[in-house]
Amino acid sequence: MASSNTVLMRLVASAYSVAQKAGMIVRRVIAEGDLGIVEKTCATDLQTKADRLVQMSICSSLARKFPKLTIIGEEDLPSEEVDQELIEDGQWEEILKQPCPSQYSAIKEEDLVVWVDPLDGTKEYTEGLLDNVTVLIGIAYEGKAIAGIINQPYYNYENNEKQQLREHRNEAKAGPDAVLGRTIWGVLGLGAFGFQLKEVPAGKHIITTTRSHSNKLVTDCVTAMNPDDVLRVGGAGNKIIQLIEGKASAYVFASPGCKKWDTCAPEVILHAVGGKLTDIHGNVLQYHKD
Ligand code: AMP
Ligand code: MG
Ligand code: MG
Repeated sequence: MASSNTVLMRLVASAYSVAQKAGMIVRRVIAEGDLGIVEKTCATDLQTKADRLVQMSICSSLARKFPKLTIIGEEDLPSEEVDQELIEDGQWEEILKQPCPSQYSAIKEEDLVVWVDPLDGTKEYTEGLLDNVTVLIGIAYEGKAIAGIINQPYYNYENNEKQQLREHRNEAKAGPDAVLGRTIWGVLGLGAFGFQLKEVPAGKHIITTTRSHSNKLVTDCVTAMNPDDVLRVGGAGNKIIQLIEGKASAYVFASPGCKKWDTCAPEVILHAVGGKLTDIHGNVLQYHKD
């Protein structure tokens, strides 16, 4: 392991702070009440004011500090001057105390590609299923996802349905003092942090899959796997969190639709704790800029 003052660890430390700011923007847009929803290709493919502001915030903040990076964001936005208020300049010092895995210590800024999903789970965001939403910043080198940051702006958020279910089961609630939001991060060869790794109960096969982008192939595939239970929730980031926190054994989605900004950051977190993310044929995903 090399010292932490490498390009990669400085980028991860900055991306952590940038992702936290992104989470604040996601919450602020909801609080202000005007989501500014735009249909992209169809009624289940949406963009909101939060998707737009967060992408501007993340891409501009990182590009200012690391001008030679290649940054690819999900949203197609006109290039315009970004409000200074959206810029985050901080870096998370705890990350800078960590050593950089030696295989990444000589990486140069121009060798890195950053995949940004400013808001994953937009459909659910517009429906008030706020704990499904994540902000994803994935970092790739030589086509491989090597570092990732996931902010979950509404971690600890209880929608009414969930609250009632917990009360019914007599389970502890997050409570009014619980801090809203968290950031999970990871680097291959170093580990993943910001959550408690948990396995699903022994012998249980629980599949998590899409809630709003289903079709016959998706449901047939899940059924053919004969699971004990199926969870249908929004967001690729959210579903990977279900895997690492022991709520599901596998995330299965036999359909086109997920893009590299959806999988880059979540893949790193999953791989850092021994999981595996592949395409439907079992091939690893490639994250080259082209
Ligand atoms: P989901 O599990 O439905 O939340 O999908 C995970 C991610 O893939 C989200 O960012 C979706 O927007 C994206 N996605 C999956 N399927 C589609 C689709 N058919 N059209 C547009 N986006 C999709
Ligand atoms: Mg997404
Ligand atoms: Mg998105």
